[in-house]
Amino acid sequence: MLNRSNLDNFLEEIRRISDLELLLRPADQKRFSRDFFDYSPILKEKLSDCCADFVVKPLSVEAVLLVAFSCQKHEVPLTIRGAGTGNYGQCVPIKGGVVMIMTSFTKIRNFDSTTCEVTVEAGCLLGDLNKYLLFKGRQLRLLPSTWRTASVAGFIAGGSGGIGSVKWGFLRDPGHLLGLEVVTLEDCPRKIQLDARSSEALNHAYGTNGIITAVTLSTCDAVDWHEVAIDCEDFHAAVEIFQSCTKSAVDLFLCSLLENKIVECLPSWSGKSRGKHRLLLLVAPDGVTTLERIANRNGVDFCHLGPEEKQGGNGLRELTWNHTTLHMRSIDSKWTYLQMLLPQPEINAINAINKKWGDKILWHFEAVRQQGVQRMAALPLVKWEGPKHLETLMNDFRKVGTILFNPHVITVEDGGLGVIDSDQVQAKKDYDPKGVLNPGKLKGWP
Ligand SMILES: Cc1cc2nc3c(=O)[nH]c(=O)nc-3n(C[C@H](O)[C@H](O)[C@H](O)COP(=O)(O)OP(=O)(O)OC[C@H]3O[C@@H](n4cnc5c(N)ncnc54)[C@H](O)[C@@H]3O)c2cc1C
Repeated sequence: MLNRSNLDNFLEEIRRISDLELLLRPADQKRFSRDFFDYSPILKEKLSDCCADFVVKPLSVEAVLLVAFSCQKHEVPLTIRGAGTGNYGQCVPIKGGVVMIMTSFTKIRNFDSTTCEVTVEAGCLLGDLNKYLLFKGRQLRLLPSTWRTASVAGFIAGGSGGIGSVKWGFLRDPGHLLGLEVVTLEDCPRKIQLDARSSEALNHAYGTNGIITAVTLSTCDAVDWHEVAIDCEDFHAAVEIFQSCTKSAVDLFLCSLLENKIVECLPSWSGKSRGKHRLLLLVAPDGVTTLERIANRNGVDFCHLGPEEKQGGNGLRELTWNHTTLHMRSIDSKWTYLQMLLPQPEINAINAINKKWGDKILWHFEAVRQQGVQRMAALPLVKWEGPKHLETLMNDFRKVGTILFNPHVITVEDGGLGVIDSDQVQAKKDYDPKGVLNPGKLKGWP
């Protein structure tokens, strides 16, 4: 970090910025240096002691430009924070320095009534944006299960998909992100507008190559989603029904399958556990009877819980994706998890893993569309028994052909496909030539 006199100069500059809140209390510095990395015992050990030296909250883009100027001038690390709900320590300042909170930027700047594209400031909550869109007869295509609390730019920079992925694939698929307004960290920071093509390099780059101040997204027609739960005694039959549902001509927004031992531990928002494996679905109104037919054909229990909006605060959405892990951890914090795309046919990989690991892992599946094909993603739960145990499990998954997205690592690349994305690195060279933004998170940056 900075020596004493540089630190004083830097702080003096920061204090002079109007439209900037400076949070100097140690409790704030600690609080805003954390996210939900403790889902991983490995990251917990690595990141628990990381702490910002300063926390700032800009109230205008001008203030962002001035913070960017001072950080690059004094080469002080700058880590951007949305709502801080990431799981991999994405907004943890591993080299200290400044954490900049973007939650003051909440305006919805424009809704194009012809294309239905929406332009919104970085810190707007996804839930608030979705509510606004519903008034226009539109909705967001993709949402993390943290949709009520997470920010738009945090989802772009740190997220990948979630609710809606069964239909719309993943955030990095072309067509979702249409543009970004970005503040650079050059000698003289600029506010620039990126089109869809040049925005790609900042999508899921953990805020390492530009400060996002506004986002333009595509939207889709709003649907009055209905909640359905299907309970099934036999695990293999449950997997088959899951696949029948995703292959049918019904409009789905969510299709999850949880092993019975998970269902037992969840809040009862989808009905009481009956010791069976459970599918949780969000389906368009005209698809409910088809799902019922699939359930009846297989002789399993079908429950139409009704329109989603009638459920108030506690919906199926918050039982799925990483909220499943959250509920399990609230019962026993030894639970941790993996994330992966299963090879096809999925059942072979599932059987091979079950043969060796049996009830040591609990299955949690999410339906996703990957490059135009319906696939099964898995977020299996496993009790923490040390790093070797987890590594063995991951290797077994790799051996059966799964593509792992390791949630126990801190770099963009290691958590993704393991390869360096030269566009992301080039964008860092262009917009953050001194490597000030979120250092240590982009492996391709020397
Ligand atoms: C229970 C639980 C469930 C989850 N479910 C999902 C899920 O279904 N799908 C999913 O994808 N994720 C999921 N997540 C992870 C996370 O909640 C989401 O990715 C969320 O969208 C992150 O938004 P945030 O505002 O909290 O971002 P933060 O955690 O604040 O930041 C995430 C990353 O984005 C960067 N960033 C934030 N704002 C900016 C900006 N303005 N400019 C540049 N970089 C920025 C940060 O530096 C950081 O690297 C889950 C997490 C939890 C705890």
